[in-house]
Amino acid sequence: MNKNDFPILREMVYGKPLVYLDNAATTQKPQVVLDAITNAYTHFNANIHRGVHKLSQTATVEHEAARAKVASLIGAKSPNEVVFTKGTTDSINALAISFGEYAVNEGDNIIVSAVEHHSNIVPWQMLCQRKKAQLRVIPLTNDLSLDLDAYKQMLDQRTKLVSVAHVSNVLGTINPVREIIETAHSHGVPVCVDGAQSVPHMRLNVQDLNCDFLAFSAHKMYGPTGIGVLYGKEDWLVKLPPAEGGGEMIEHVSWEKTTYNTLPYKFEAGTPDFNGSYAFGKATDYITSIGWETIETHERNLVAETQQAMRHIHLNGCRLHIYAEQQPKIGTFSFNAYNHNGALIHPFDIGTLLDRQGVAVRTGHHCAEPLINLLGVPGTVRVSFALYNDENDIRIFANALEKALTMLG
Ligand code: PMP
Repeated sequence: MNKNDFPILREMVYGKPLVYLDNAATTQKPQVVLDAITNAYTHFNANIHRGVHKLSQTATVEHEAARAKVASLIGAKSPNEVVFTKGTTDSINALAISFGEYAVNEGDNIIVSAVEHHSNIVPWQMLCQRKKAQLRVIPLTNDLSLDLDAYKQMLDQRTKLVSVAHVSNVLGTINPVREIIETAHSHGVPVCVDGAQSVPHMRLNVQDLNCDFLAFSAHKMYGPTGIGVLYGKEDWLVKLPPAEGGGEMIEHVSWEKTTYNTLPYKFEAGTPDFNGSYAFGKATDYITSIGWETIETHERNLVAETQQAMRHIHLNGCRLHIYAEQQPKIGTFSFNAYNHNGALIHPFDIGTLLDRQGVAVRTGHHCAEPLINLLGVPGTVRVSFALYNDENDIRIFANALEKALTMLG
């Protein structure tokens, strides 16, 4: 589907056509996004806001139009709720600083889950260290889903925030964020959703989900690197202090006192990535033109068909283990292989042999070391999809894996 829109997918690696299955790390960009970057720098590159000249005004209009497109993509009530950041990591760090300053004190606790990416662990660990607060972790059940009973037990009067991944970047499993949010809200606790691996793959409506905050990155959804979003309900963003000081986020500055800008600028210190936002807006147009239903169905099928294809390859005495195999997944799944003696074949070895056949997958801990430690392996092989992957990619991947196992088994 739409492979021709992505020039990089015509590249050859080691003389083989590129099969790109590392989309959870970053996606490739369609021609419309590449053109947008060139257009912006070629025709209306000027610093935004407060510029009286034509170029600055055009850049400002485009930047704000992009914000409105992103707001509409996630169903935000208003573009004021969309804060542009550098990406998911930056969004969560900003929230940890701002929310931490506003609400967290000694003896309080923050809840995350066992499947988090480091970006949704370390900022909270740092906050807990600063404030002498406690980080609590929702454990997993045997089938690698979140233990919601344990979660309900750990919420108490000192819980200040719950921050959870919507979709695991290792397993591809979809966490029950709706239930997590309802439970937290019944205790008066707000919830931040790490949407890095969900926003690119599914229709997500923040008002319907009722999350208080949502973090995601443009580069994982066909947009440019260096820009992302911290969505926050307006009520929260009005109350919270800015995480960073500098230009753009101020109303007035004097030696005695500085007052802050209105939303969302209060949270956007310094020159924003206005050309990046323009290109991000074009990426959202691209997604909308294809439609979420088409994307979701296609990507769910890709995961199911790849797992199915792996069941039919000649294993040469090896064994394959797909994590959370029976659970619904979106965009991503992980596996490991064991040789005829039952010993783990190192994921790097599989990744390297796949690469030599033109197939790009990711191996290692995927920035989720606590989860990988829990799985008791040094890493996994992760296969992750985007809307341009197709059955031919699956066929090439399955053949390449079969060959790799023949060599390593
Ligand atoms: N959270 C999750 C679930 C992720 O998959 C990623 C990216 N791998 C991040 C956070 C961090 O995203 P970024 O590097 O774009 O800030």
